[in-house]
Amino acid sequence: MRKYVYDFIEGDRSRADLLGGKGANLAEMTRLGLPVPPGFTVTTDACRAYLATGTPPDGLYEEINTHLRQVEARLDRRLGDPDDPLLLAVRSGGRYSMPGMMETILDIGLNDVTVAGLAAHAGDERFAWDSYRRLIQMFGHTVHGIPAEEFAHELAAVRATAGPGGPNAEQLRDLVDTYKKIFTRHVGHDFPQAPHEQLFLAVGAVFSSWRSERARVYRRQERIPDDLGTAVNVMAMVFGNLGPDSGTGVAFTRDPATGAPGVYGDYLTDAQGEDVVAGIRNTVPLTELERLDPASFHRLRQIMTTLERHYRDLCDVEFTIERGRLWMLQTRVGKRTAAAAFVIATQLADEGLITADEALTRVTGAQLAQLMFPAFDIDGAAPPLAVGVGASPGAAVGRVVFDSAAAAAAADGPVILVRPETNPDDLPGMIAAAGVLTSRGGKTSHAAVVARGMGRTCVCGAEALRIDVDRGEFTVGDRVVRAGELISIDGTSGRIWLGEVPVQPSPVARYLAGELRPESDPLVAAVHRLLGHADAVRTLGVRANADTPEDARRARRLGAAGIGLCRTEHMFLGERRALVERLILADEPAERDAALDALLPLQRADFVGLLAAMDGLPVTVRLLDPPLHEFLPPLAELTARVARAQARGEDPGRDATLLAAVRRMHEANPMLGLRGVRLGLVVPGLFAVQVRALAEAAAQRLRAGGDPRPEIMVPLVGDVRELAAVADEARRVLAEVDGAPEIPIGTMVETPRAALTAGEIAAEAHFFSLGTNDLTQTTWAFSRDDVEGSFFPAYLARGIFPVSPFERLDVSGVGRLVRLAVAEGRAARPGLTVGVCGEHGGDPDSIAFFAAAGLDYVSCSPYRVPVARLAAGRVAVAAGTDSSDSR
Ligand code: PEP
Ligand code: MG
Repeated sequence: MRKYVYDFIEGDRSRADLLGGKGANLAEMTRLGLPVPPGFTVTTDACRAYLATGTPPDGLYEEINTHLRQVEARLDRRLGDPDDPLLLAVRSGGRYSMPGMMETILDIGLNDVTVAGLAAHAGDERFAWDSYRRLIQMFGHTVHGIPAEEFAHELAAVRATAGPGGPNAEQLRDLVDTYKKIFTRHVGHDFPQAPHEQLFLAVGAVFSSWRSERARVYRRQERIPDDLGTAVNVMAMVFGNLGPDSGTGVAFTRDPATGAPGVYGDYLTDAQGEDVVAGIRNTVPLTELERLDPASFHRLRQIMTTLERHYRDLCDVEFTIERGRLWMLQTRVGKRTAAAAFVIATQLADEGLITADEALTRVTGAQLAQLMFPAFDIDGAAPPLAVGVGASPGAAVGRVVFDSAAAAAAADGPVILVRPETNPDDLPGMIAAAGVLTSRGGKTSHAAVVARGMGRTCVCGAEALRIDVDRGEFTVGDRVVRAGELISIDGTSGRIWLGEVPVQPSPVARYLAGELRPESDPLVAAVHRLLGHADAVRTLGVRANADTPEDARRARRLGAAGIGLCRTEHMFLGERRALVERLILADEPAERDAALDALLPLQRADFVGLLAAMDGLPVTVRLLDPPLHEFLPPLAELTARVARAQARGEDPGRDATLLAAVRRMHEANPMLGLRGVRLGLVVPGLFAVQVRALAEAAAQRLRAGGDPRPEIMVPLVGDVRELAAVADEARRVLAEVDGAPEIPIGTMVETPRAALTAGEIAAEAHFFSLGTNDLTQTTWAFSRDDVEGSFFPAYLARGIFPVSPFERLDVSGVGRLVRLAVAEGRAARPGLTVGVCGEHGGDPDSIAFFAAAGLDYVSCSPYRVPVARLAAGRVAVAAGTDSSDSR
């Protein structure tokens, strides 16, 4: 027969699947000889069987009785004994902690007879009646669903009439009578007096609480599978509410907020754990226990040291002191803040408890990302005005402006650029602003990608905002916010507040920017060491997506080993837009050539700056990618301008020509239209001028004694013939430039067809770079500018996606194309360098996949570079890469 019940002395912490986290750790503490009240765990198997059929599996009650008899023998007390009754606590405990989501029933075993025995034995009648009323309350609520308020209401009434010491024994006895009446009224029979019946019903109720609405919601939120079930721990009661020499508390082996060493916690004299949670009385710091009960305090400290050495990590515990005797009720590896995670990992390594490799696995890229951004101090902040998509982390406060020029011109303090959505024209405003807020678009919208690249805080897709740029205001409900008003935006949570919420600067960001020395602060020192170790062990390279020398220098400071993607379209904004317009509108080859000639020196200067900033490191320059009409004014704006001019009887002049061009070039799906390599093949001379500029820039850097390492990358290739045509032209141009170095020519792999024909394409490509933004868009048929704001929220809420595929690579779909491209590309061209430059290159989980898929490097926005370095280090450790212990 299957075994459903394990005594605490039978289990250990490796069996958390079966015994739940709490049960496994109680067993572990028991094995360590720590003072755990005797008890046993009913397994998650039993729970699953119970939930499947609605009845306990065969033999469960007999097994529970057998284990109960062992507990009784160990304590020499019996459940239901009228003179000195054993009482039991029945607590839930699943594989993963779900704090407060499931049920607990204490004081099982009390009835009208044993209550007197408890009173006599404890020498405290008041305590006995108080325990009995707690049992009826918890049992009534948990087993029979009696509303908790009904009991709470009666308790409050009794407390109101009681003296300063609280209700006396008589009052509590009357309260028990009242509670029993409530019970009978709701349930239709009296409160069960048989202790074993109480126990079996309590176990069943705890099993059922796995299915409660709040537990389901919590699991969905925390991504805990729904089919695990909970274990139930049945343990002899110990009492912290037996007078001033009793009490209850929680403690941590180190400070879970900062990681500082020392024992931290809270203690409440003469109370049960539930009172601490209910917040009825204020706790005192644990250090107070040293004064109140030095012996228990020192024993507790010893135990905590034992636990930390045994678990080799921060532990938290719950304990009770019953008349001067310490009991451990729970332990687990404790949750901690991101800062504490770094500090504790390095401390444990210093103490010899873990290796440097393990220390690296104790922190995550997501935690480092969190530490790099300033944070709002939201204690006491008003509720947010609205919530959008947190698209680029950070905390920004500033005055509202509605157009890019106003942002760039703002002189008195930081501004937040508020737009329905952004386009490349908004770049100067985005550079000038402290933060960007849009009402449309998601995490890969223009605003999000550009803001992340610049490290600007950005909240996108805040659909509650109705933005009226012309009137210079936005409204949320009936609140109107005008230009010049202060707002605060949180790029992590997407929250938007009116007014100024205080901001704390990040010491980690200051260290990474070279402004703070590593030893200046324990957290910074820990980040320095763990990043250093990650660099020592990782095999995956980390480059940055950067378009300006300033970004390139920043990326280099943050540890980037080159540029994996320079989006050259960002170089054609501002005044240069006029040259692109000239190019588009040119009727004659001579006009077109004149426009291209004018672009050449400007583009060359761009590349010289970039190559200088990344001297000695690869700089992958991508030829122009976006549809050209993005450089022209929007259709609606031009139509209005022309109509206004005509209405006034004026000649719309150049606007009419522009309008005709925009109409001609209009596409229903511009992302699937004339862009990328297709542009290079139909706009004569466009790619050639970029190639020439790069070759001349490299030659200039060589003459100046530099070490330029340019690479040319062709976007949106779907067929090898497209790449071959562009590469032929590029090679012709390169041959014409005196003194230019060898420049590899590679391609983005960002269409499914490119991935599917990677073997053919590799014949023409010196390298591949996976454009996972477009590859995700085209594999799923998702418009990357629209879907995150439109139906993704519904998909996420329904669990169709655990997370947006634009944020974390969809391994089973897009990932297969990635693997195919790597395999077929390298089969055709052994040693082919393959990187990734989509947004996924900065996502720690996706990085683990890219490493496993055999990529050479990831390229991400400069601010993600440290995160990617750390993530790559963790991946190397997880893969068992050999490393010296360079602590
Ligand atoms: C991509 O598609 O992943 C990519 C890097 O290019 P872009 O985002 O510029 O389209
Ligand atoms: Mg792309």
